[in-house]
This record gives sequence, structure tokens and C-alpha cells, in this order.
Amino acid sequence: MRFIHHPVLCNYYLTYRCNASCGFCDIWEKPSPYVTAQHVSENLRDLKKLGVRVIDFTGGEPLLHRELPVFLTLAKQLGFTTTVTTNTLLYPKNAEKLKGLIDMLHFSLDSPVAEEHNASRGVNCFNHVLESIQVAKQLGERPDILFTVHSGNMHQIEQVYREITQPNNLMLILNPIFHYNQVGAELTATDLAGLSQWGTKKQVYLNKAFITLRQNGGNHTADPLCRAASTTLVISPENKLMLPCYHLGLEAFPIDGKLFELYHSKQVKEQIALEGRHAGCEGCTVNCYFMPSFHVELSKYLWHSLPSTLKYAWEKGTWKSALR
Ligand code: SF4
Ligand code: SF4
Repeated sequence: MRFIHHPVLCNYYLTYRCNASCGFCDIWEKPSPYVTAQHVSENLRDLKKLGVRVIDFTGGEPLLHRELPVFLTLAKQLGFTTTVTTNTLLYPKNAEKLKGLIDMLHFSLDSPVAEEHNASRGVNCFNHVLESIQVAKQLGERPDILFTVHSGNMHQIEQVYREITQPNNLMLILNPIFHYNQVGAELTATDLAGLSQWGTKKQVYLNKAFITLRQNGGNHTADPLCRAASTTLVISPENKLMLPCYHLGLEAFPIDGKLFELYHSKQVKEQIALEGRHAGCEGCTVNCYFMPSFHVELSKYLWHSLPSTLKYAWEKGTWKSALR
């Protein structure tokens, strides 16, 4: 039974450009413009009218956009919860300008070993992560470490927890890897069993529903769990609404200052009705869309997802903004 019928999240791609070239991502290969302030302003206004609560300013590397602090300020003024994930290369330089504007700030880290993290990211950024943690803490920010878990770094979770997140009083977000468009991977059954044990640790976020989803073979087109298009608006750097999600990206409708009307149009409704039902949706585990999908209707996935969500909200204090 569905109890939330409006979109709750916007994945706002500020640019596809990136100063890293991670092996599990192909975004950085795409040519891309940067979004304009006018489009962001128009779209945030309409996202508010549509009932969206969380804006994820993403990319590519979102800190490559010089106007990110302006966008975040506007989003905060409109009452949105904001989130940004960065590879940290540009964070120390921009930290002052971003202070207080990001509710959920994530620093990506793939390994506690500098050479391995740098190899994974295609650029030397390990030291930037460590520096960014200290810079953020000095400014009173509480970033999270976002650790994308794959078979090759499963064994390093303990070291990241012991040597990096716990000494710095940070949340460790364990993000199971997914695959799409020939990039990424999936975890084995053994990996999933090992990973599950981390969910109960202090200051560790691991969404059990992500594990359950994988154990059940991901999304199934005959009876989809995915609610990507009806929970999440994806806006491209070209100012288009992408449907049903970024990763499948079958349709892209120009927004032209009319996001609210576009979202309620017949053509978009037709796409929403097909969420999770396309051939490419079989087996899908793309975390970004399943997180909101789990939270709009009653199912075992909601009950598997809620404890980690509440744990995060409690430890980070984001429950306060959820009550607003
Ligand atoms: S830093 Fe992010 S956007 Fe850039 S290549 Fe890596 S995963 Fe992709
Ligand atoms: S199942 Fe996956 S690929 Fe299909 S619409 Fe949902 S998120 Fe996109």
C-alpha cells in the first residue's frame, strides 16, 4: 500500500564533468555543460510545489560548479534538506563557502590504503579526503565517509572504521556497489552475508533493504519494486527531466521553466507508469532510486530500511529537519 504519492527527492546533476575518473562510473566520460543559476532557481521553486523534500546536488563532481554555494543557499531558504557527495579534491578550497549549507555531506573513500584509493579514483585524492575531514571538523561540519563496498575492498571496512571514521567521530556509510551500462559490479552472496554484520555497529549506516534487494535478485520487471520516476526527479545539466532515472535515461524532456506542468503532463505520467518495467530494469539495484522507493509504501523493504534510516537521522540530527 502506497502512502506517499508525490516525489520526495531530486537528483540535480550540476554537470557531468568530473576531476576524477573512477573505474565504476562512466559519467566523467560525457561532454557536459554546467547548469545555470536561472534554471536552478526556477526548478527549485517548482520542486517545492511538487512536494520534494531533499535536493541532492550531484554530478560529475558538484564542487566543480562555482555557484554551488548559491544553489545550496537557495535550497536551504526554500526549506529543502540538502546533500552533496564529493571526491574532496576541491573541498578544502571551498569549505568556508559551503559551511552550514549541506545537511548530508559525504566524502567518498574506497580504501584506507592511499595507493588503492587513488587507483580506484584515477587521481591522487586520498590525502585530500584526510585533509577535508580535518577542515570540515574545524568548521563544525559533520561529514560522512561514503565507502562503496565491492568484493575487492570488503576486507578493508574494519580498517576504515578503526583508523578513519571512529577516531574522527564520523558516520561510515556502507554503500553496496551496483552495476549499470557495463560499469560497476554486484556483490556475491558471501560478500552480502559478511557485509550484513556491519549494520549494527555504532556510527555505521548500512541499509538492510539494500542487502535484501540483492538477495532477491534486484528489481523484477514483472512485479517492480522500483519507484524511481514517481519518487525522484532527475534533472540533467542540459535542464532536461530524465526518465525513468538517470541510469536508464530513456527519455529527456526539456524543462523550459515549466517543471511543475511537465511533471504532471501525459507524457511524463506514461513514463512514470513504466518505472521498473523496462527490459533494462530486470535485476537493477541502483541504490539512489531504491532508497526513496522503499519509503513510500508498506512492504518488508520499508521495515528493513527504517532502522538504518532512523539510526542515521538520530546520530546526525537530521530528524529535526524531517519534522519541520
Ligand atoms: S568522483 Fe563520482 S562522478 Fe567522478 S568519476 Fe568518481 S564516481 Fe564518477
Ligand atoms: S529499475 Fe533501475 S533502471 Fe529501471 S527505472 Fe528503476 S532505477 Fe531505473
